[in-house]
Amino acid sequence: MNALPQPVVELIAALRRLPGVGPRSAERMALHVVQGGDGDVAEALSAALLHAVKTVTTCERCGALTEAQPCAFCADTRRDGATLCVVERATDILSIEKSGTYRGRYHVLGGRIAPLDGVGPEELRIGELVQRLEPEGVREIILALTADVEGDATGHYLAKVLAGRGVRVSRVAQGLPAGTGLDFADELTLSRAIEGRREMT
Ligand SMILES: [Zn+2]
Repeated sequence: MNALPQPVVELIAALRRLPGVGPRSAERMALHVVQGGDGDVAEALSAALLHAVKTVTTCERCGALTEAQPCAFCADTRRDGATLCVVERATDILSIEKSGTYRGRYHVLGGRIAPLDGVGPEELRIGELVQRLEPEGVREIILALTADVEGDATGHYLAKVLAGRGVRVSRVAQGLPAGTGLDFADELTLSRAIEGRREMT
């Protein structure tokens, strides 16, 4: 027999599907919610969850998270439209924005080439990237990919695809922690990495 009522067990199981939530914290959260220790936390949480899921989508142009089409980055005329920073995930944009040094626009690939996980170039938003070059007058592409084997492979593939299309392709300087993505790179490391970008040949 389980010591907890079945609905609580199900709530714990649902919470554990979230990244970074282990069994103990899931149990603590679930018990906090059902015991009503925090007023109407359950109602506020479920309303906010549904609202966010219903209203937030990805920008059709760049792939950033947004409520409107196009997103605020694509719509902002003060940003330099001739420069695109290519990232793996929409959340990488937040890290680069925090560094405060980048004033161009973005393009989210939606992952990176990882043959062992069955992710090939056709699964990524590479065709969409190429289609943006001419209409938006893109002259420079900065690849801000993770510094590991798969990030390198993706970078080289993109450099090949973009060669001969009249855009300068550079890659942010090494220094991003391998395998952890941009989430964990501190702001100073990131702005130095962007400033010290090297052209790919
Ligand atoms: Zn956008």
